[in-house]
Amino acid sequence: MANDKDLTVAIIGAGATGIMAAIKLGEAGCKVSVFEKETDLGGTWRDNTYPGLICDIPSHLYRFSFAPNPEWSRTFSPGSEIYDYIRRVAEDHDVEKLISYDSEVTKLEYRDGRWKLETTRGDQGEFNVVISAVGILHHPVYPDIDGLDHFEGDCFHSSRWDHEVSLEGKRVGIIGTGSTAVQIVGAIVDDVEKLSLFQRTPQWVLAATNQVYSEEDKANFRGNPDVMEQIYESFADTLNHGFAAAVVGENDEALEMIQSGCERNLNENIRDSELRSKLTPNYSAGCKRLIVSDVFYPSISKSNAEVITDKIDRVEAKGVRTADGVLHELDVLVLATGFDPHRFLADTEVVGLDGTTLNEAWSKGNYAYKTICVPNFPNLFFIGGPNSPIGNFSFLLTAETQFAYIEKLVDLIRRGTLTEVVPKLDVTTAFREKLNRAMPGTVWASGCQSWYFDRFGNIGSWPWTFARFEEELSEPSLEDFCTTVESEGS
Ligand code: NAP
Repeated sequence: MANDKDLTVAIIGAGATGIMAAIKLGEAGCKVSVFEKETDLGGTWRDNTYPGLICDIPSHLYRFSFAPNPEWSRTFSPGSEIYDYIRRVAEDHDVEKLISYDSEVTKLEYRDGRWKLETTRGDQGEFNVVISAVGILHHPVYPDIDGLDHFEGDCFHSSRWDHEVSLEGKRVGIIGTGSTAVQIVGAIVDDVEKLSLFQRTPQWVLAATNQVYSEEDKANFRGNPDVMEQIYESFADTLNHGFAAAVVGENDEALEMIQSGCERNLNENIRDSELRSKLTPNYSAGCKRLIVSDVFYPSISKSNAEVITDKIDRVEAKGVRTADGVLHELDVLVLATGFDPHRFLADTEVVGLDGTTLNEAWSKGNYAYKTICVPNFPNLFFIGGPNSPIGNFSFLLTAETQFAYIEKLVDLIRRGTLTEVVPKLDVTTAFREKLNRAMPGTVWASGCQSWYFDRFGNIGSWPWTFARFEEELSEPSLEDFCTTVESEGS
């Protein structure tokens, strides 16, 4: 029986949330092992290094509650600063020694109350608890376009940026108009000879000024952590209670303000009527993940930039051929075509009770009890699991809320009260049905295609307010779990 000293926990992934879980569980006295498939920590902030990368969630909101950071350079800081922040937090808490790099988890099998874990490096032994912290925007989507392999220039996905390739004076094509493409456009337009943006669907863009924090500001933050806390509270209130409520149909006034803010941004900053018409979406703001940028419109209006709306027919050796027959000659082609956020542990064989695999359980769509755990898979917990609040939220806040709940469940096992924590099937099904009933009321279901949808047409986000998320995860209801209670003295 596990006790305070010997409870073993395997964490999958050394991104921001895996690092957070390792720190917290280590402090709680668990024996923690982190398995990371790459050779470095940092997750999405390790993978994404494209020019212009910033986090459009305010930096003072995008931090761990236990590690406020007075050093953020801007309201929306660059990706490299976030990577440095995660690394620094890991170092400050001495957790890197817990990480096995180059160790992709290939198999998890639940046997006799423990998870047997295998990685690409072989058998790693058994663990009482497994926590998946594999992130969400992690698996790059490569577009299914004929001839992509025949392109003679340089071609790479935005999250696999090839820094050996200079863009100086080149003809650069970008496929996609999501947050990534928008940031890249702003960063490279002045360096390239010509920038061709291949747009399948226009996006709503909200302008937000990216204020620089002066040395004086930072000194103030260092000396007065309360000031950072106030900034945090203010951003959390705007995002979680304003934006998050708006997109789930609980704050129509805020949704109208977002819509009118986007329209104003477009109308004021795109003077050319033909370009404006190309960039005008035919769906509601917030339906796709909202883009935040005050540089995109001025950048795409420059004389060396163009937006191509004709459908891509194929890629040829010299460039992209569109359906109107035009060949757009290019030296470099960037695939800013996004990620598949619905894969979770799809590449790992996860075998639960009675030999059920997670891929079988999720063969018609992912689901979890309150985003956290899945019937038949005891003591396996997800940070950022199915239907987590995602999109224009601080994922770190979502993750900390989930982790606090998971920690309570782990604590029951750690103290020997329970050996197995697994949600009841009927309770999970009822939760899933409630989610499905709520989805049509969200703006994501209002008539657009986005990465929120999985291949079955299910929306993978949280259809209620952030306050409800916090409330649902405030305290585990033990009656919702099938629990194996240790008999006294065992
Ligand atoms: P995305 O939002 O999924 O955008 C992918 C783009 O590629 C879309 O414009 C899509 O068009 C287009 N596309 C995909 N396949 C295509 C094809 N075969 N032909 C033509 N166009 C194709 O991806 P992303 O921009 O990488 O952003 C993903 C998410 O990452 C964001 O929504 C955000 O949550 C996060 N992110 C955050 C930040 C930040 O600042 N916090 C920065 C970057 C990314 P359709 O719209 O027609 O599908």
